Amino acid sequence: MVHAVSGVSLEIYKGETLSLVGESGCGKSTLGRMMMRLIEPTEGQIFFEGKDITAFSESQMIQVYKKIQMIFQDPYASLDPRMKVRDLIGEPLLTHRVCAGKEETDQRIKELMHMVGIRPELIDRYPHQFSGGQRQRIGIARALALNPRLIVCDEPVSALDVSIQSQILNLLKDLQQEFDLTYLFISHDLGVVHYISDRVCVMFLGKICEIGETGEIYEKPLHPYTRFLLQAVPDMDPEKVQKREQILTGEIPSAVNPPSGCRFRTRCPYAGDICRDKEPEIRQLGDRKVACHFPLG
Ligand code: SF4
Repeated sequence: MVHAVSGVSLEIYKGETLSLVGESGCGKSTLGRMMMRLIEPTEGQIFFEGKDITAFSESQMIQVYKKIQMIFQDPYASLDPRMKVRDLIGEPLLTHRVCAGKEETDQRIKELMHMVGIRPELIDRYPHQFSGGQRQRIGIARALALNPRLIVCDEPVSALDVSIQSQILNLLKDLQQEFDLTYLFISHDLGVVHYISDRVCVMFLGKICEIGETGEIYEKPLHPYTRFLLQAVPDMDPEKVQKREQILTGEIPSAVNPPSGCRFRTRCPYAGDICRDKEPEIRQLGDRKVACHFPLG
């Protein structure tokens, strides 16, 4: 069995945006889905609002899903093209019998459309009649319908034009403030992550490398992989490009047969013998948590 994610321990604090970052295949989306039990963990526990939801029954999970929602990467694929906005946003309201009748449901749908910046009179339009950014707004309205506490945002802007990305990110920030939302934000885009996150969790091949406050991590990464990721952000400064080349050694290892010891060791210019023999445990360094035998100074 291939473990996409293993030995991971992570807390998300109320009202914060915690981002999971890493290259594709690092397990960040798997971890996000696992937290919602859309993928069942083979071992370990998931707590939500102090309750262990790992063994919750389907009916208990229905109650949890009122409080945990998801925004998907591709607004083109995540909205059923045969459904009108009315039905797309109204579906969770009807499923959970939130509103008393048709009038109240319509009123709530329009209120949600207004919240995300879509004109309520467009309630009977279909997804293809909207732009990509508008479709993502509809996806957000649908996620907000049940007044969730936590929203898992899985690459919510990566399918959008750069000019639209900041509008959606600002919308997410505004909604977070207004409704005291907590976000688990999954992204490979370090620029987006810097803009939206309070804390960042860096993953490599199914393991956490480093967790910490966003400004501190970007200012002074302690894990060699975090530094590599930050240096890989496009930059025209030739000095930085040269530094980047120094750290880019080795092939990306396979998740099926990961290296012994530290999974990053085949690409890490700082690797020593212990890195091959012993997997680094995650440990507290100041306000940071880092899994590295030789954290950067
Ligand atoms: Fe590099 Fe060793 Fe740290 Fe892994 S544990 S990141 S190989 S220095």
